[in-house]
Amino acid sequence: MTKQYQLFIDGQYVPASNGRTMPSVNPYTGEAWASIPDADAADVERAVAAAGRAYQSVWRNTSGVARAALMNKLAGLIEAQAERMSIIETTDNGKVIRETSSQMKWVGRQLRFFAGYADKLYGQHVPLDQPDTLDYVMYEPYGVVGLITAWNSPLSLLANKLAPALAAGNCVVVKPSEHASASTLEFAALVQEAGFPAGVFNVVTGGAQVGQALVDARGVSRVSFTGSPGVGREIAAAAGRRLIPVTLELGGKSPNIIFDDADIGKAVIGALAGIFGATGQTCVAGSRLLVQRGVYEEVLQGVAGRAAKIRMGDPLDPQTEMGTVANEPQFKRILGSIERAQQVGARLVTGGRRATGPGLDKGYFIEPTVFADVSNDSELAQEEIFGPVLAVIPFDTEEQAIAMANDSRYGLAAGIWSRDINRVMRVSRAMQAGSVWVNTYRALAAQAPFGGFKESGIGRERGEVGLHEYLTTRNVMIDFSNTERDPFAIKN
Ligand code: NAD
Repeated sequence: MTKQYQLFIDGQYVPASNGRTMPSVNPYTGEAWASIPDADAADVERAVAAAGRAYQSVWRNTSGVARAALMNKLAGLIEAQAERMSIIETTDNGKVIRETSSQMKWVGRQLRFFAGYADKLYGQHVPLDQPDTLDYVMYEPYGVVGLITAWNSPLSLLANKLAPALAAGNCVVVKPSEHASASTLEFAALVQEAGFPAGVFNVVTGGAQVGQALVDARGVSRVSFTGSPGVGREIAAAAGRRLIPVTLELGGKSPNIIFDDADIGKAVIGALAGIFGATGQTCVAGSRLLVQRGVYEEVLQGVAGRAAKIRMGDPLDPQTEMGTVANEPQFKRILGSIERAQQVGARLVTGGRRATGPGLDKGYFIEPTVFADVSNDSELAQEEIFGPVLAVIPFDTEEQAIAMANDSRYGLAAGIWSRDINRVMRVSRAMQAGSVWVNTYRALAAQAPFGGFKESGIGRERGEVGLHEYLTTRNVMIDFSNTERDPFAIKN
C-alpha cells in the first residue's frame, strides 16, 4: 500500500488538476512506496495566484516580529518531528538516517537564524549634498518567489532558500525534485500547523515542465534554483527572457588538497567524508583528491583501505555509513562514468562495481570507488559524477597544486590540509571557490555564506548575504525645500 501525497496550494492539500500521479521509488528496495502528483502548468498558475493573493492581502502587512514568531514555531515543529521527517526523506532518497536526521535539525537552525533578521530589515539614511532633501533606502521583498530544489537533500536545500525568503517577507511556490518530493509535501503540514496564512507557502510537484512553468509564471518575481549545471543554464535563460533575477546553486568538482605537512590521520578522514559522505551525492563532494608526493602512498592506502570497509546497508539503520544512490538514472550514470574511466586506463584501487551481498541486492548500491594517479585533465577529474567515486591526483609543489585545483570550470568548494599557516593563507586566497575549508571539509553553518564561483553558480545562500538575495532596494528622495527649480536643468 503506497502513501498518496497531494499538492499543497493556498493552505490546502489538493490533487493535481489533471488527476495524474507518479510513483516515488525507495532506492533501497527498488519499490514504489508513495505516489506524488504529476502536476502541470495549470497547478503552477493556481499556486502562484494563491501566493500573490496571500502577499497582497496579508503577508506584506505582517510585521517582522510576527513573521519571526511563525518561523520559530515552524523551527520547533521540524525539530520535534526530526525523526519522522528523516525517515520519510531517507525512504525517498536513500541518504543515511545519520545524515537526514541532522539535516532536519539544520532546517530548524536555518529558520531560527533568518527569523532573527525578520524584524531587523533596517534601511539606511543617505546623506545627500543638499541639506533640504531627505534620502533613504528601504529593503523590500520581491513578492512571490519560485524555489526549485534537487533530490539529494530536499528539505535542507529548501531551508537555504525558504528561511531567508520568508524572513524578507516573500511568499513562495516550491517545486521539489520529482525523485524525492515526499518530505517537502509533508513539511507543508508543519507550515500549516505553525499557523502561516494560507498561500504563503505552496508546493507543486512534477517534472521539468512544472519547473519551467514556475520560472515562466508572470506572478513570480524571482527564482532560486539548486540542481545541475545543465538545468541551471536553462533556468537562467528563461529568467533572462523574463528579466527576473535568479540564484543558481549548481554542481562542482571540488579539489581537496593534502600537503605533506598535514595531520595525515585527520586529512584521510576529511578525504573520506568529502567523497563518501552522502554516497558522494553532494554538490561540495571533494571528488578530486590532490596529494603531495611525499605522503601520496600513505594517503592513498589510508583512504582506499577505509573506503573498502565502509559499512553499506539499510539507509534507515543508524549503523549504516553509506546508503544507496538516490535513483535509477543516477545509478546508471555513475556506473557509466566508472566504466569510461576504466576504458581509458585509470588505475582502479578499490570499488568500481555495483555493490552486492546480503541486504544490498535490491538497492542502488555502488562500491566506494577510488582511482589513483589520475590526470587532472581527464574526464574523471573534470566532470561531476555525483556519486562515490574519488580521483586521486599526485602533485609536487604548492604552485602545481593551486594550478590544478583551479583548472576546472567549477568553483564551488576547496579543501586544504596543512599545518603551515603561511601556506594556508597563500593557498586559501588563491582558490577559485566559494567555500574554502582548512583542516576540515563539508562543514556548513547558517551564518556562513555559501555559493559558487565560475560555473558552480550565481548568488549566495545563508549568512546575511543570503537574506539580501530575497530583498530588493527602493530609494526614496524627499525635497522639503520651498524653492522652485529650473525645469530644464537636472537637480543635483
Ligand atoms: P536537476 O537539475 O536535474 O533537477 C533539479 C530540479 O530542477 C528538479 O526539481 C527538476 O525537476 C527541476 N528541473 C529540471 N529541468 C527543469 C527546467 N528546464 N526548468 C525548471 N526546472 C527544471 O538536478 P538533480 O539531478 O535533481 O540534482 C543534482 C545536481 O544538483 C548536481 O549537479 C548537484 O551538484 C546539484 N546540487 C547543487 C547544490 C548546491 O547547493 N550548489 C546542492 C545540491 C545539489
